[in-house]
Amino acid sequence: MSETIKTDVLIIGAGPVGLFAVFELGLLDVKAHLVDILDKVGGQCAELYPEKPIYDIPGIPFITGDGLSKALMEQIKPFHPTFHLGEMVTKVEKLGDASFRVATDGDKTFECKCVVVAAGGGSFQPKRPPIKGIEIYEEKSVHYAVRKMDAFRGKKLIVVGGGDSALDWTLNLQPIAKRLTLVHRRDEFRGAPDSVNKMRALVASGDMDLKIGQVTELEGGDGQLTACTIKCNDGSTPRVECDAMLPFFGLTMKLGPVAEWGLKMEEELIPVDTGTFETNIPGIFAIGDINTYPGKLKLILSGFHEGALMAQKAFHYVYPEKRLVFQYTTSSTNLQKKLGVA
Ligand SMILES: Cc1cc2nc3c(=O)[nH]c(=O)nc-3n(C[C@H](O)[C@H](O)[C@H](O)COP(=O)(O)OP(=O)(O)OC[C@H]3O[C@@H](n4cnc5c(N)ncnc54)[C@H](O)[C@@H]3O)c2cc1C
Repeated sequence: MSETIKTDVLIIGAGPVGLFAVFELGLLDVKAHLVDILDKVGGQCAELYPEKPIYDIPGIPFITGDGLSKALMEQIKPFHPTFHLGEMVTKVEKLGDASFRVATDGDKTFECKCVVVAAGGGSFQPKRPPIKGIEIYEEKSVHYAVRKMDAFRGKKLIVVGGGDSALDWTLNLQPIAKRLTLVHRRDEFRGAPDSVNKMRALVASGDMDLKIGQVTELEGGDGQLTACTIKCNDGSTPRVECDAMLPFFGLTMKLGPVAEWGLKMEEELIPVDTGTFETNIPGIFAIGDINTYPGKLKLILSGFHEGALMAQKAFHYVYPEKRLVFQYTTSSTNLQKKLGVA
C-alpha cells in the first residue's frame, strides 16, 4: 500500500466550489489537498461548458467556464494546494482520534482532520449509444475517450456523433488513421463551424468518409470489432470495416461512491447545516451542487458562500486551541501577507 499523505483538509472534487474552498481555508492557515476523477480542474465549467459565457459571477460581468477555472487557479496559487487528478475517492472512514482516512482508486491514502465533499453531481459518465451488444466491445475496441492518440494509428476508425468532441477527434485522428468514417444521424452538426468546414473539406477530397445515419449492428469477436452496419437516412445499409469505434454522445452525471460513506442522503444529495455546511458526520462538510437545504440554488455563487462558512468551522477542527478572529482582505496585513501582496 502507498504511503499515507497527511493534510488538514481533503477536498473531494476540484470543481469551481472545491477550488474556491482552498482560498477560504487558506486565509485561515488550513492546508488542503484536492482529488478529482477528471484529469483537469474546473468540474462542470471545464468539462461541460468551457467556452460558454457565465454572466452571474458577482463582480465579473462575463467569463467563460474555462476562464473561471483559470481565474480560480490563479486566486488560490498563494496557498499551494496539492492536486491528485484522474483519481476517484472511493472510501471515507472516521478514525478514533477525530480524524479521517480517505482512499482513492489510484491507491492513495490520506489522513485529515476534515473532509470537504465538493463532488457536484458526481462523476461524469459517457452516454452509451443504443446499439445492441455494444458493452461487449467497450474498453477493447469501443472507446468513449481518447487517452492515447497513438493507439489509433493505422487503424480503421468509426467516429459517431455531431458535437465538438466527435468533430475534434475526427480531425485529430484522420491524419493517423488508416481510414476514418464519421457517422452522424443528420447532416447538421452542433460543433464549431470551422471544424465542420474542415471535416467537409476532408470528405470532399476523399480523405475520409461521412455517413448520415445510425450504427445499427456490430460485428467482431472477443471484444474486437471487425465491422459495423450503418442504416443511412437515404435507405442504404453499408457494412463498414473497422478496428475501433469512438462514440461521442455527451456526458451524464452519476453520483458514484459518495453514497457509501455513511452520510445522510436525500435523493442523492447531502443535507447540511446552513450555518456551517457540515453534514450529519461532524468534520465532514458538503458544499456546492452536492448539498441540499431549504432554498438551495445550484449556482456557483452559492457554492462560494458555502465554502466561506465551511472554512470558519473547519478551522476549529484543525486548530481546536485557537480563537478565530474575523478579518477583511482589504484591511488585514496578516491576510495580505498570506496572499503575498503585503
Ligand atoms: C451547461 C451548464 C451551464 C451552467 N451555467 C451556470 C451559470 O451560468 N451560472 C452558475 O452559477 N452555474 C451554472 N451552472 C451550474 C454550475 O456549473 C454548477 O453549479 C457548478 O459547477 C457546481 O460546482 P461544484 O464544484 O459544486 O461541482 P462540479 O462542477 O460538478 O465539480 C465536482 C467535481 O467533483 C468530482 N468528483 C465527483 N465525485 C468524485 C469522487 N468520488 N472523487 C473525486 N472527484 C469526484 C467531479 O469529477 C467534478 O470535477 C451551469 C451548469 C451547466 C451544466
